[in-house]
Amino acid sequence: MPEYNEEYEISGPKGTKRGTAFVDTGASFTVLPKPVADELGVTAYRPETVDTNNGPVTWGVGRADVSVGGKPAREQDVFIAPAENPLAIGANSLQISGFKLRAMSARARLSICDDCDQKRRHPYLGDTCAACGCLLELKSRLPGSHCPIGKW
Ligand code: SF4
Repeated sequence: MPEYNEEYEISGPKGTKRGTAFVDTGASFTVLPKPVADELGVTAYRPETVDTNNGPVTWGVGRADVSVGGKPAREQDVFIAPAENPLAIGANSLQISGFKLRAMSARARLSICDDCDQKRRHPYLGDTCAACGCLLELKSRLPGSHCPIGKW
């Protein structure tokens, strides 16, 4: 799982929480563990099925004001996950906050590829993907590119 940290501030009807959390660009929305959502007064208004390392699960989706890296807070959807899940900043929050996702994503994407069994080491070309045949160093830097099996 790719991890790098950013400061966050998340507010709901009952309060605000600040800290540093890892960025998970594999997650669409920011993830709030249930105790944190309860503390902030964020409640689910709909369910959504999420693909996790342990298979698909259904989490609640609520609304919260999220600020990442000191950028202005914006109201957005957040996942409300069971307590054992860590608070994590999702790709959607980065994009809404106006982060330069392209530069951050190359590093994050390559981190995902590092853990993937489709990654191959070519003797002349460097790291390649067995699923799509792409050169990973190049593919990871193309803003519109996608992992062929949905990992990023
Ligand atoms: S692009 Fe996707 S399938 Fe290919 S190596 Fe990276 S994570 Fe694996």
